[in-house]
Amino acid sequence: MDISVIVPLYNEAESLPELEAWISRVMKAYAYSYEIIFVNDGSTDNSWQTILDLREKNPNVKGVCFRRNYGKSPALNVGFERALGDVVITMDADLQDSPDEIPELYKMIVDDGYDLVSGWKQKRYDPLSKTIPTKLFNATARRVSGIPNLHDFNCGLKAYRRDVVKNIEVYGEMHRYIPYLAKNAGFARIGEKVVHHQARKYGKTKFGLNRFVNGYLDLLSLWFVSTFGKKPMHIFGFLGTIMFLIGFCAAIAVGAIKLCALWAHEPARLVTDTPWFYIALTMMILGSQFFLTGFIGELISRNSADRNSYQIKDEID
Ligand code: UDP
Ligand code: MG
Repeated sequence: MDISVIVPLYNEAESLPELEAWISRVMKAYAYSYEIIFVNDGSTDNSWQTILDLREKNPNVKGVCFRRNYGKSPALNVGFERALGDVVITMDADLQDSPDEIPELYKMIVDDGYDLVSGWKQKRYDPLSKTIPTKLFNATARRVSGIPNLHDFNCGLKAYRRDVVKNIEVYGEMHRYIPYLAKNAGFARIGEKVVHHQARKYGKTKFGLNRFVNGYLDLLSLWFVSTFGKKPMHIFGFLGTIMFLIGFCAAIAVGAIKLCALWAHEPARLVTDTPWFYIALTMMILGSQFFLTGFIGELISRNSADRNSYQIKDEID
């Protein structure tokens, strides 16, 4: 099969027939063999019934129905598990992404050898309250992830080589960082294509402003897990050592000051009168805390189920 189109959706019943017709039209024009996997993320409108009706007319339509709303990432993950196509395309259900982009995305994966191509909504039709924070968000994501050529991490329209989607796990709200997940799994050829964007035609956005706070926290934990997840002692042990050393030197300074005073028969001041005493105290306590955290981190990572899961590209047996 050439292409799997995965569409996560939450209460998008009005858009679905139009979207399905448009995708099918493009697929027929280019004679691709394809499937459309609608993942109904616990919609409370009649999205699922609409999908069943579409299936009656078009056997290429497939669907998964969640019992409740889990979020866009779990919906994508389930779609990725089901996908059969050589190239996997994801797009939002709200008709903001145009299926006319599919042939070009397909070509970039198959002919130009990209592992992942992300859409870039260069000209957006969204409110300013969304576009300005998005610019900041993308600048940070570029830095942290080390993928300097992407302008629009969270674009719903993306194309993947099948290997990519079978080897990444999208959970929580990590759909914003799929290129980063792919890069961490060893897929280095990540490209970008400018895509057309339209204003939402039906319904309203499913993500509020808290997307930006959660987005940053996710980026932070992803960075942490990908850098130190398998070797927590490297960060905590390092910080612990530095702090302990500072504390230790400060303790020596406290002792030395006291001794000098006694030596010179000056009226001895209490050790608690110098700031070094407090620096020594906090630094040594914090340093040992960091060390203990590192040890506990090591114990946890040694016992985690995927401690030895590495990305294997190919196998001969
Ligand atoms: N979506 C989903 N589960 C959710 C929230 C959203 O499957 O919990 C789908 C939604 O139906 C749409 C896509 O994710 O197909 C993108 O959502 P939306 O258009 O609301 O996001 P925005 O365009 O505002 O970033
Ligand atoms: Mg949208």
